[in-house]
Amino acid sequence: MLKFEKKTVSTDLLDPRENFQHRTIKTEIRFDPLTGETSRLAHFGMIKPLKEDYSAWDNPENRSRCPFCPENIEKATPRYPSSLLPDGRLRRGQTTILPNLSPYDQFSALAIMSTAHVVTLDKMTAPLLKDAFGASFEFLRRVTALEDAPLYQFIIWNYMPPSGGGLIHPHLQVISSSSPGNLYRKTLKKSKAYFRRFGRNYWQDLCAAEKKRGVRFAGQVGGGFWLTPFAPLGVLGEFMVIFPEIRTLFELDDKALQDLIAGMERLFAYFQSTEITSFNMGLYFAPAGETRDYFSLHARFIPRTPLNLEHKAPDTNALQVALQEPYSVLHPEIQCTELKGFMQA
Ligand SMILES: [Zn+2]
Repeated sequence: MLKFEKKTVSTDLLDPRENFQHRTIKTEIRFDPLTGETSRLAHFGMIKPLKEDYSAWDNPENRSRCPFCPENIEKATPRYPSSLLPDGRLRRGQTTILPNLSPYDQFSALAIMSTAHVVTLDKMTAPLLKDAFGASFEFLRRVTALEDAPLYQFIIWNYMPPSGGGLIHPHLQVISSSSPGNLYRKTLKKSKAYFRRFGRNYWQDLCAAEKKRGVRFAGQVGGGFWLTPFAPLGVLGEFMVIFPEIRTLFELDDKALQDLIAGMERLFAYFQSTEITSFNMGLYFAPAGETRDYFSLHARFIPRTPLNLEHKAPDTNALQVALQEPYSVLHPEIQCTELKGFMQA
């Protein structure tokens, strides 16, 4: 049923670093076991995470210009009509949910995660994460209760500028949409096709297969299975958590939220050990009201880095943009052995 397919191509060259000795360099092309889409392992060792001191940006001048800082948030950010949120915004702990003034979709909210302007990974604590994600899930539940609510709910996160985050003040994008984006749409479509063909949930099969093999299974934190995907989406790889027994937003209870946050804490400890300071995240539910068992809640974490600190070139290039072809300079199986130390501690 589930296949991990790959092919290897070779380049022959005379290497100037080794007195023009003949050398064969291998590139691995991997096929995602669900979608069949390719991702390559290549360009090895050429990109490393570069660490910046973001805390230096936490100064009075920057805070005074930031719409999400406590002194500005009331007057600089919009509110929802009272028909959706009676108080216009939704608050939990330090988190405030409010509409994006430049929305991406019909329901395109922001979860401002903290009152602090800069929250480095060592300060991204479990209570902060629990309030931010808990409030985001509550907002999405309110949206899905509306008449003619969109079918799809997801949360995306650009953490720190290398990930494309335009504002350093930490915030999640909390979206409910009838157009779930190409990757999520394709994942849903292929998960349904797998279910029709084999009568089984692909995500449960993936968790079982990876746990049995062990090489990309980093550990289980409560109900969450943490993996390094076979065909990663980022230049510094990809990390995924799957909750095989949870499908829709309404099945995610407080225990599952705790498990998600506990796993994220461990992932962020690993990130800090490898100097990863920025990432993109996507978290996807089965469509609202779905009763068939073909899709499980999962989230992807994709580290990001500038290529250098002088020009700050981004780590996305024509390969990802013009060919829609991800590549990773690291092996998921090696990253998994590193992550295991954190997930199984
Ligand atoms: Zn701020």
